[in-house]
Amino acid sequence: MGKVLKIREIGDPILKNISEKVDIQNIDAEILDIIEDLKETLIFGNGLGIAAPQIGINKRIIVVGAKKENINYNEAEEIPITSMINPTWKNISDETDIQYEGCMSVPNIRGKVKRYKKIELTYYDEKGNKIIKQISGFFARLIQHECDHLDGINFIEKVIKDNGFATKENIEKYKLREQEYIENKYKIITLCGSTKFKNEFMKVQEKLTLSGNIVFTPNFFNNIKKEEINNETKNMLDEMHKQRIDMSDEIYVINFEGYIGESTKNEIEYAKKQGKIIKYLENI
Ligand SMILES: [Zn+2]
Repeated sequence: MGKVLKIREIGDPILKNISEKVDIQNIDAEILDIIEDLKETLIFGNGLGIAAPQIGINKRIIVVGAKKENINYNEAEEIPITSMINPTWKNISDETDIQYEGCMSVPNIRGKVKRYKKIELTYYDEKGNKIIKQISGFFARLIQHECDHLDGINFIEKVIKDNGFATKENIEKYKLREQEYIENKYKIITLCGSTKFKNEFMKVQEKLTLSGNIVFTPNFFNNIKKEEINNETKNMLDEMHKQRIDMSDEIYVINFEGYIGESTKNEIEYAKKQGKIIKYLENI
């Protein structure tokens, strides 16, 4: 039986250390005791995950586990109590999302953190078996949070700048998670490319919209000839398109027959700088 241990809280220097790897060939009683203590402490504290530094031990061990009723995340699945030794992960897609996180080491405070949505997780179980899994959503977020602890990083260092923090009570009072969910439910995609490919724009716009995306396109004008638009107005339209890119998760380049004009090139550069995902109609 494990013991419920005191949780180290933010500011405790032990949380800032890089934890050392466990020797997989030698998972001894000491390691198994740490795992039992982590499990007991996690269950007692109604947590979803815990890392060994949080009970004062700088070893690369985490325990995760979540009953459906304890998870306040949208679309979260139940996770059985699982201990993981020397866990590592890598993202298998560039897709990210932003959700509130909490931490047993930071009482009452929640903060919005951007994480990868799909990762490949590698760890060793208590018997030293190597396990590799592809996971997504809440589970993937949890693993990224717990692995950060092993590198001395707390989620509050990663909270997004704008309006990122809230107390647990206010999240419930003002239904902030639900708001977040509505704001993030559909991906936003901006189409970029030469407006001479109006048909292609329309086709892609229809397809992406019907598969559950909010799609921004450049403006197409029916009643005004392009020649009638002065430079000032052109600049305004360019700025508007950049603002659409700012609001988007990704851009989709209509490079019909391989054509990418100068202004589209600029837009692609701009989107790259903003860290947006870039996709193309035709392979480049
Ligand atoms: Zn934590």
